[in-house]
Amino acid sequence: MFEYAPAPESRSVVDIAPSYGLFIDGSFVPASPSGGVFKTVNPASEEVLAEVASAGVEDVDLAVAAARRAFGPWSALPGAERAKYLFRIARIIQERSRELAVLESLDNGKPIKESRDVDLPLVAAHFFYYAGWADKLAYAGYGQNPRPLGVAAQVIPWNFPLLMLAWKIAPALAAGNTVVLKPAETTPLSALFFADICRQADLPPGVVNIITGAGETGRALVEHPGVDKVAFTGSTEVGRQIAGSVAGTRKRLTLELGGKAANIVFDDAPIDQAVEGIVNGIFFNQGHVCCAGSRLLVQESAYDEVLTALKRRMATLRVGDPLDKNTDIGAINSAAQLSRIHELSEIGDSEGAQRWSPQCELPAQGYWFAPTIFTGVTQAHRIAREEIFGPVLSVLTFRTPDEAIEKANNTPYGLSAGVWTEKGSLILAMADRLRAGVVWANTFNKFDPTSPFGGYKESGYGREGGRHGLEAYLA
Ligand code: NAD
Repeated sequence: MFEYAPAPESRSVVDIAPSYGLFIDGSFVPASPSGGVFKTVNPASEEVLAEVASAGVEDVDLAVAAARRAFGPWSALPGAERAKYLFRIARIIQERSRELAVLESLDNGKPIKESRDVDLPLVAAHFFYYAGWADKLAYAGYGQNPRPLGVAAQVIPWNFPLLMLAWKIAPALAAGNTVVLKPAETTPLSALFFADICRQADLPPGVVNIITGAGETGRALVEHPGVDKVAFTGSTEVGRQIAGSVAGTRKRLTLELGGKAANIVFDDAPIDQAVEGIVNGIFFNQGHVCCAGSRLLVQESAYDEVLTALKRRMATLRVGDPLDKNTDIGAINSAAQLSRIHELSEIGDSEGAQRWSPQCELPAQGYWFAPTIFTGVTQAHRIAREEIFGPVLSVLTFRTPDEAIEKANNTPYGLSAGVWTEKGSLILAMADRLRAGVVWANTFNKFDPTSPFGGYKESGYGREGGRHGLEAYLA
């Protein structure tokens, strides 16, 4: 592999303040005595980026009360008026997309080419898309006079901070709800910049409130008696706790949880394309993707060819500085996530699977993990069953379509799957029998705001995106 010259994106396009308050009722305010502060770091360098307020129970009360006050006037606006705000937000996101992409890469560790070319365009697209629905709710298939639910409590994870915010906030506002959103504690900054965009768009105070903090803040928010709807994206473990706390209340709930997707490659697939799809499926965003193709199922007759091509391709992946435009794999988001990836990989070793990574030099500072595959994996191995949420692929084989279906569905999750074959009939037959919310054919990790996304079984319930995504915010 020839060397590339460094091609760093400029860090100076983003101005990060030394500290941030909570965004409540249209203003940034410090946390109350029930709250505190925490630091957010750049996972590629361990440099502290900013100190951020941590909301306590009093702050959660204030944010929910602000959202409640704003709900009446906001929901009474004609849909076309709400749409104007959403279109304005979408345009400001586009105008500020370079700044936001750099910020996201700094706080999250993801490569700039992904935050610039995937996250930010999709964030803007979600606001544009739901802006278009705001005055057409009566035609969405949910009755002639669908009503908003009220105040939505939204809790999101760290893997796509601004994109998950867009998935949550855009449909909620389009439908006439107001929101209190809590970003993840390791990636709070892009949500705080979004708060500034709400001010820039003259969004009425209280329609969007952003409260930062860790799990306790999230818990106080979802358990608050003043919220009408809870939308959560994150781990299955926390999703289960939330489902327990919401049970028996009148709150509506949607959960987008983990996954362990099968990426199924038949021997008639275009192998080079399939290898690109395998690489994109598991190494995109360092594998911090709930729908990542973390289980590769290869038809036995194509195994040698696929594995040889996959290893050759993996040897060309560039791991390193997220702000370098040539970087393919950035930093692991946190020390805690890195240790979980190490732990599960070591379990893979001890269970007898064979680990392989290309030669690659990892930076000395920050949190890094080389792209890795495990071969010789069986259904019983923990690395074939548990979500690793990192750049680690488990490779299994199959002989017949029935065996592929059996293995693919043998998981507590059901978020996504991929099928690679040149036979259209086989794609349709497989898609019919795969128990997964999304099935990609001859591609992987393709997202579009018009398309619903969500899971079966322990991957959660409810759908986000598309017309279906409105249902979660309408009565
Ligand atoms: P996590 O569940 O630990 O945290 C998610 C969010 O919930 C964070 O904001 C966190 O502060 C908050 N939280 C933690 N404990 C809480 C509690 N008791 N009550 C309320 N909120 C609480 O998950 P994570 O480690 O941040 O994210 C990784 C997980 O998210 C993975 O399992 C991944 O599959 C899943 N995920 C799913 C989707 C999807 O669309 N299905 C998308 C992205 C991530």
